[in-house]
Amino acid sequence: MQYKVCTCCVMDTSDPRIVFDSNGVCNHCRDFKELKGKQWFPDESGAKKWEGIADLIREEGRGREYDCILGLSGGVDSSYLALKAKPWGLRPLAMHVDAGWNSELAVANIENIVTQCNYDLHTHVVDWEEMRDLHIAYLRAGVANQDVPQDHVFSASLYHFAIRNGIRYILSGGNWATEGIFPSAWHGSAMDAINLKAIHRTYGERPLKAYKTISFLDCYVWYPFVKKMRTVRPLNYMPYNKAQATSELERTIGWRPYGRKHGESLFTRLFQNYFLPTKFGYDKRRPHLSSLIVSGQMTREEALEILAEPLYDPQELEIDIAYFCKKLRISRQQFDAFMTAPPHHYTDFPNWDVRYRLLKKVQRMVERILGRHVNVYS
Ligand SMILES: [Zn+2]
Repeated sequence: MQYKVCTCCVMDTSDPRIVFDSNGVCNHCRDFKELKGKQWFPDESGAKKWEGIADLIREEGRGREYDCILGLSGGVDSSYLALKAKPWGLRPLAMHVDAGWNSELAVANIENIVTQCNYDLHTHVVDWEEMRDLHIAYLRAGVANQDVPQDHVFSASLYHFAIRNGIRYILSGGNWATEGIFPSAWHGSAMDAINLKAIHRTYGERPLKAYKTISFLDCYVWYPFVKKMRTVRPLNYMPYNKAQATSELERTIGWRPYGRKHGESLFTRLFQNYFLPTKFGYDKRRPHLSSLIVSGQMTREEALEILAEPLYDPQELEIDIAYFCKKLRISRQQFDAFMTAPPHHYTDFPNWDVRYRLLKKVQRMVERILGRHVNVYS
């Protein structure tokens, strides 16, 4: 495919499935327009809808210690959500999953939020030896989504904890305004435990005992239908603006920003700014900046300026690689070998895609019968 960039956002042919129309506008821009009024409500209709959902959460949580649970990473989205939950009259239990890569700044931000909002905080510390084994298994597998071991355990720990404690509502900072565009061809779902276990079975060295996973059935049947668990994404019901949210956090609770390079987690920084672009040619700034463009938070020119900046300062990169190798107890030669080994696609390993497509088929069928949008999945 000849190299091409969308004329409206900054997505390019690094997405192998991108399709341009005669004006050079990509499928992601067209798909994003469809979201408005269906899953993204940055207007009064959203405020009204959200008020209805918040009423329900407060109502059902009456008499309980907490009415919802909120996963706190220390990043802007979840921090802002935590800040807002208070004036909404919600009583969340804040939960943080520590997978071993937190920066001191992230920890400080989390502590600051829970103290100022007066939330209880439950921190789950992931068994590092198992986490390390999974990270190395993923590096050996050479797949693009190296962040799955971390992302999966974040969600899985949160869900397991909520179920054990009878909490039905999960507040998620996930949102269309800053994450609306993402090329699905780049990688599979972080929730796909079939894929995770297959990769670990092939390349791991020690059994996963403490590491929590969520199965396909848990995710799509047991939790939503039997346990009646709901993941709600409040930021989709408001005109969520990342720059404004950041400055509100800084102003009101002294939250400190991480800069553009994912200072909240060293793993994410090295993975997104070095591993992905070097090994796969995927620059995650593109979908992120594109999301900000189509949701009206940034101009295309501003995004192009950011993209022109280098991903890493060479010295900083060396420091980060050295830390990464030391933490994973691998040599620099091993690291370089992982970088240059032939890449694999996640579909080279067993995964849940067939089940997922079947589920989506059933969902569309139910929607046709009921005549309305059905979405209880997370
Ligand atoms: Zn586009």
